[in-house]
Amino acid sequence: MVAPKPFLDYIDSNVPKFIDRLAEAVAIPSISGDASRREDVKKMAQWLEAQLNKVGVKTAAIPLGKQHIEGQVLDLPPAIVGRIGEDPKKKTILIYGHFDVQPADKSDGWNTEPFKMQFDKEKGIMYGRGTTDDKGPIMGWLNVLEAHHALGVELPVNLRFCFEGMEESGSEGLDDFIVSEAKKGAQGWFGGVDCVCISDNYWLNTRTPALTYGLRGLVYFNLAVSGPGADLHSGAFGGAVYEPMTALIALLGQLVTQDGRILIPGVYDGINAASDEELEIYKNLDYSVDDLEAAAGGKIAVSDDKSTVLMARMRNPSLSIHGIEGAFSGAGAKTVIPAKVGGKFSIRLVPPQRADDIRVKVEKYLKEEFAKLKTKCKLDVEYLHGGIPWVADHKHWNYEAAKIATEVR
Ligand SMILES: [Zn+2]
Repeated sequence: MVAPKPFLDYIDSNVPKFIDRLAEAVAIPSISGDASRREDVKKMAQWLEAQLNKVGVKTAAIPLGKQHIEGQVLDLPPAIVGRIGEDPKKKTILIYGHFDVQPADKSDGWNTEPFKMQFDKEKGIMYGRGTTDDKGPIMGWLNVLEAHHALGVELPVNLRFCFEGMEESGSEGLDDFIVSEAKKGAQGWFGGVDCVCISDNYWLNTRTPALTYGLRGLVYFNLAVSGPGADLHSGAFGGAVYEPMTALIALLGQLVTQDGRILIPGVYDGINAASDEELEIYKNLDYSVDDLEAAAGGKIAVSDDKSTVLMARMRNPSLSIHGIEGAFSGAGAKTVIPAKVGGKFSIRLVPPQRADDIRVKVEKYLKEEFAKLKTKCKLDVEYLHGGIPWVADHKHWNYEAAKIATEVR
């Protein structure tokens, strides 16, 4: 199925305008995690709402309450919701995107000003914070809407929009809004929605776009190990006391093997092996171990087998150690024995793993392993946060439609 020619012609002849519009969006530094940029996030919300109105979308800016950040109380940026098309005979698709961005500064290693988009015509690459995540994808929808609007062509579906300005900061405020809207049923902004399209995702590599039909969940822990009443000097106390850091390192060493096998009993319970059909998908994907290593910036893949690496990345649980809080981490040779250290690690979850169940298994295992160390230090296992994994059926009509729509011209 190919889009109608007048539509494609309109898109082709308006490319410079579309690129300028993206540059305009990139120029607003809508950094949600920086309190001093909050007005820019709000400005970005207004800008987006005006763009949607221009192409016939009915909108509202939804206040999402207050936020405590950097010692201040600020308004959360509004969510921008919208609707166009009310035909009960058509499917109704809800589009999600976010108009906030991560911080960016030239001193972070950018070759160009991050909020001044540069277009390398020869390579066909645009450089600027938010060009892909996630202003570009939102602009894609604006471009489609504009083409239909200008040509007087009816949209083939009813569209609903939910754009937020806090995605890079934990989507604060959005959950409550969505839950309260869902309760309104047909009367709410999301009433009658048949499926959702999240325009905020990865490509498989730099060549091939991808449809995401699952996402791993997360449980995140901090292992707080303490002993002495204050930091000690190794010249005075080394060898005479049990040391928190020694216990923490031993405990962290019991979590996972070098090639990623999680050592916590019961963690893999209930996870099915991949079916032949699923294995076939991995085999045929346009992906290589080289792609992974290029993206990682090192020859460090756990296997030379493409399917093994893909499954490690997409369908198996994994455990990563992230950091040690309270440890001496400066330059030089300070001879401190830290009084209290925290080891941070997380586990990526896959269905049917559940955060609450995994949490119980992790805590039990850590307590047992800690007891085996026979240290007099004390362990507190802190559960920081969790998220549920999900996987959808990639044969659902929603994905079939998306496959047809994602054709490379
Ligand atoms: Zn994003």
